[in-house]
Amino acid sequence: MNEHILIVDDSKTVRNLVAFIIKREGYKVTMAEDGLDGLEKLFSADKIDLIISDVNMPRMDGFTFIKQVREQETYKDLPIMVLSTEGRPQDIDLGMKLGANLYMVKPAQPEKMVQNIKMLFGKK
Ligand SMILES: [Mg+2]
Repeated sequence: MNEHILIVDDSKTVRNLVAFIIKREGYKVTMAEDGLDGLEKLFSADKIDLIISDVNMPRMDGFTFIKQVREQETYKDLPIMVLSTEGRPQDIDLGMKLGANLYMVKPAQPEKMVQNIKMLFGKK
């Protein structure tokens, strides 16, 4: 428990909702409001164990963010989950190709999200 999750989403409502859902499970949370902020938090916050990222965001979108994270050797195995309203097959393909481990389309069921996080952490 107490794994540290970075939530990257430009919507404060989504950030707070996702934070509420995962804090309830005992995870520690850091929030970022776009990809650039996400990179800054990833480099400066305490060790991050998993990223949940939106796609559509100002300054730096989620795909660019994921690509930049995966370019760093340190983060090549860091679990990344996309949580986006963009649910077309080509979006999902691109997200996975860039290095996401899982792609969830909004609105996501809280129970399913928690299940997926546990799966990414290798727990039941
Ligand atoms: Mg967005």
